[in-house]
Order: sequence, then C-alpha cells, then structure tokens
Amino acid sequence: MTQTFVPVRRRGLMLVLSSPSGAGKTTIARELLATDPQLEMSVSATTRAPRPGEVDGKDYHFVDIATFERMVSEGEMLEHAKVFDNYYGTPAKPVRDALAAGKDVLFDIDWQGTQQMRQGARSDLASIFILPPAVEELERRLKSRAQDSEEVVKKRMAKAGDEMSHWPEYDYIVVNHQLDSSVASVKAILTAERLKRERQVGLPDFVNALRSKT
Ligand code: 5GP
Repeated sequence: MTQTFVPVRRRGLMLVLSSPSGAGKTTIARELLATDPQLEMSVSATTRAPRPGEVDGKDYHFVDIATFERMVSEGEMLEHAKVFDNYYGTPAKPVRDALAAGKDVLFDIDWQGTQQMRQGARSDLASIFILPPAVEELERRLKSRAQDSEEVVKKRMAKAGDEMSHWPEYDYIVVNHQLDSSVASVKAILTAERLKRERQVGLPDFVNALRSKT
C-alpha cells in the first residue's frame, strides 16, 4: 500500500533583508528566490527613476510622487519611508495574497520600513541584517555597479554608517564575506524559522492524527 504524506500546514513568514547599499543584499535575495519556489519577492513602489536594466513591475513599481502619496493615504502600503531623497513603500495586497496562499515573502527594505513592519506583524516577521566585510569592499561594490553617478555613490557611502548603526534591531546578522556562504546562512535561517512551532499551525491536527493510530 502506498502512503501519502500531507505536509504540516504552516503560516507564511515575512523575511526581511536589510543592509547598507552595496553589502550584497540584492544578490543574496536573487539567489534565494531562484532556488526556493515557496518564497516570493515583495515588489516595492518607489519614486526613484529606474536604473538601466531595471524592469517596472519586477524590480520596482516605478511611480510618480502623486501616485505614491495616494497609495499611502488610501492605506495601500504596509510600510513606507524616504531613503536617499526618494520614497519607497511596500504595497500590502500582494503580501497578504502571498501569505494567504501559504507562501513566504521576502522584503528588501531599509531599517525604517523594518521598524514599521515589526510593529504590525511581529510574530510573522524574521529579520536579517547583512553587513559588508569591510568598508573598502562596500565602496568597491557600489562603484562596480556603475549605474549610479559618482555623487550618488558618495551619498550612499556617507549613509552607510547610519544604516549600519541599526544592526541591533535585527534578529540575525550575516557578515557577507563570501556570497555562497552568506546565501547558505540565510537559507539556514529561513529553514529554522519555518520550523518554529508557532508557525506550524497544522501541528495539533497532525499530532492528533498520529496519536489516534497509536
Ligand atoms: P535602491 O534605490 O538601491 O534600490 O534602494 C535603496 C534602499 O531602499 C535600500 O536600502 C532598500 O532596501 C530600500 N528599500 C527598497 N524598497 C523599500 C521599501 O519598500 N520600503 C523601505 N522602507 N525601504 C525600501
């Protein structure tokens, strides 16, 4: 007789990745998404102009300030913040839909957004701060992106110190010495967070079914 195993039902998880720009967060996020079909990226809305190669609706929803303000005032944003002179925010509906469908959602947002999300959804949130291994490496990565002007790179470097001061607000800290091992660390965190007892909401039924046959 073949036996079918039903996975234990669990609640979706919101995984936040923050870091100063250039610490490798976007690359880590991309790797995770490519290998984990249960994970969905939250696509933010922003008033910043697209960089070369960025696709509307995939990298960001690129909107004007009036549209952004309307989304905020109509309660369509889960959180929003001003970062580097531009506005960024997380549209709420796709996140709710993904969680309801049993998916986990990955967020690439700054510390301001993380604070707001923590207030609204503490028990569904796991947060990771990515640090660069050294400041020289941060600068090298920012410059090698070659998409931002020298002035923007300077501004981002100046902001990095501020950003990094928020590390104690996060659940996990990963120093990105080497991409592969950082990706492995973030995957391990995700696996452990998924296994947390309180997230496995189907456990009472599952264990009752097991016990009924003992
Ligand atoms: P970038 O312009 O380099 O794409 O992003 C700049 C910063 O804005 C990054 O630190 C990124 O994490 C943050 N960011 C992107 N989307 C959001 C968002 O929806 N909310 C908040 N609070 N920050 C965001």
